[in-house]
Amino acid sequence: MLRRSLHYYQKVPPALVNELRRTTAEATVEWRRARKRSDFRLFRPHLDRILSLERDLAEKLGYERHRYNALMDLFEEGFTVRDADSVFSKLIPGTRKILAKVEPDGGRRAKHPLESRKYDVAAMERVNEGVLRLLNMPRDSFRMSVSTHPFTTMIAPLDVRITTRYEGVNFKSSLFSTVHESGHALYSLGVGENLAYTPIGGGASSGIHESQSRFWENVVGRSREFEALLDPILRKNIPFLAPYDEGQLYSYFNTVRKSFIRVDADELTYNLHIALRYEVEKKMIAGEVKVAEVPELWNDTFEEYLGTRPRNDAEGVLQDIHWSNGSFGYFPSYSLGNVVVGMIWHEMRDGELVREAVGRGDLAALRDWLKTNLHRYGATYSPKDLQEKVFGEAYNSARLIAYLGQKFAG
Ligand SMILES: [Zn+2]
Repeated sequence: MLRRSLHYYQKVPPALVNELRRTTAEATVEWRRARKRSDFRLFRPHLDRILSLERDLAEKLGYERHRYNALMDLFEEGFTVRDADSVFSKLIPGTRKILAKVEPDGGRRAKHPLESRKYDVAAMERVNEGVLRLLNMPRDSFRMSVSTHPFTTMIAPLDVRITTRYEGVNFKSSLFSTVHESGHALYSLGVGENLAYTPIGGGASSGIHESQSRFWENVVGRSREFEALLDPILRKNIPFLAPYDEGQLYSYFNTVRKSFIRVDADELTYNLHIALRYEVEKKMIAGEVKVAEVPELWNDTFEEYLGTRPRNDAEGVLQDIHWSNGSFGYFPSYSLGNVVVGMIWHEMRDGELVREAVGRGDLAALRDWLKTNLHRYGATYSPKDLQEKVFGEAYNSARLIAYLGQKFAG
């Protein structure tokens, strides 16, 4: 870990670091304006400048084969274009096949009525307290607060804090933010005490961290068994759920819809959004597409993967903050998290362990499994080595496809 940090500061000149900071600070302001007006042209000169700095950064850092490798490596050590191509070339057709079964008409599903239902914030706070009790989050080393964008932060090895959000409508958003961030927190809390206050006393990578939050959010939190555990807490606090039975709440938690917006995407279509960003970024960094052509490439690729076409820049190429703040190479780690989720699911006897443990309300069994097999190592191993150690293989997206297939088209 120290060598990686040193390498960065030895190879990247201070002038480039400064220039990146200044340019991205300005660009983020312009990106907000451009998104508000849904006009890519306003953002274009800034993206042009950032892109040339990012290419420069990659050159200074050094790489083998593909310039994009240097940038992805900043977020996911050792992850390459070859790995990503192998992941997405299976993930795209695999997901589309399941999607075709879920939505035989290929159309966009109507909104679930609960998605527009307003809720009482105080009641939702009690639900979230109930969720934390179900997950058995430790009271002496953990707390939850409120913010617009939920996040997890580790103040010290035994002081991990999360936030959740209350938008006042569509209560599952608050509920699953709480579960998601709790998953991040459990990872941080599970790192071995022997690693505390060392450079390896945190998560192995963004991708591995995301695998933990999404395992709890999607595999556990959105399962039938978890809904059953949660059911009494929900009904006690949210009276308008009375007309819905457990099965209907389960489908509300797992609504599949082709959204234009990544952050609104469901568990199934999410990876197609990431695959699109990966393709576009790869071409941009390689210089295979001009910045002016990016919106069209975005829309064409979106249409190819999801069958619909964004109607404007705001719901297309301008929706994410990442490029404006120079986070090229970060997007793939979102999907890597899901890929690792699939591998954990496979390791847990194709989900049987989850169904059994959650079914008998014994979430500690899952926590112990994750702590023993993954958490306690912190960042001792690179993400690839950690996967080899736990699963005997790395980034095998076939597991994720099997999991999604069983859940959505089984
Ligand atoms: Zn997360």
